[in-house]
Amino acid sequence: MSIHRTHGIVLRTRKFRESSKIIVFFTRRYGKISAIAKGSLKPKSKFGSSLELFTRSSLIFYRKENRDLHTLSHSEILNANKNIGNDVVKLAYASAASEMVERLVPDEEQNETLYELLNAILKQIGVAERNQLELILASYTLKMLHAVGYGPELAACVRCGKDLADKVWFGLHSGGALCPACHNQDLHAIEMSQATLELMRKFESISMARLRETCSADKLSRDASDILYAFVRAQISEGAKIRSLDFLERMRDSSFA
Ligand SMILES: [Zn+2]
Repeated sequence: MSIHRTHGIVLRTRKFRESSKIIVFFTRRYGKISAIAKGSLKPKSKFGSSLELFTRSSLIFYRKENRDLHTLSHSEILNANKNIGNDVVKLAYASAASEMVERLVPDEEQNETLYELLNAILKQIGVAERNQLELILASYTLKMLHAVGYGPELAACVRCGKDLADKVWFGLHSGGALCPACHNQDLHAIEMSQATLELMRKFESISMARLRETCSADKLSRDASDILYAFVRAQISEGAKIRSLDFLERMRDSSFA
């Protein structure tokens, strides 16, 4: 058994037996890990509120060789992200952001860029106006795809390398933008506007904080997010679902269209 220290964000929790919880964290040093917090549901537990969803804490855990469930011994809040839990719409966006990470990365693979990105989007969701959430999540989605190695090619046609001056498609199976000559070669190509392509390029080049301050795209960010969420779904195994993303889209389409 070995002892480890790192920082981690709570992605998901579930009750275990009478008084314990199993928590899935995304940690800075070890990527996605699962740990049991014994006695964490008892009143006056030493873990306090540090195991609430999306809370970022400093962690100490014990690891047994060849076991994928570790034992959490200590956690101390660094950032509670309280603004998210109190707002059902923000909660839906934060859940989609964290579940995409959960589905796209294998267990215990360190990815510090992704950790920082998740930390950044939770902060941004906390301070954003509701009408900025779509833009922030779409931008995060593209940054996350790059961080896990699925970043789409947007600078030129992904098949022939030509400039994208005219009509443009996004090839879900090709992994990027397609020109008029190539789009027929991808059965899952979605037509998009030059403005949507420009917005996606902006997602790659500027931070979410800066984007939130400078952009007011709404219809455009919807177009971009529809494509990017479809692209995320194309990366996960067939039949697997990203439930919180499905929920988010249904919620968005029913009340905010
Ligand atoms: Zn082409």
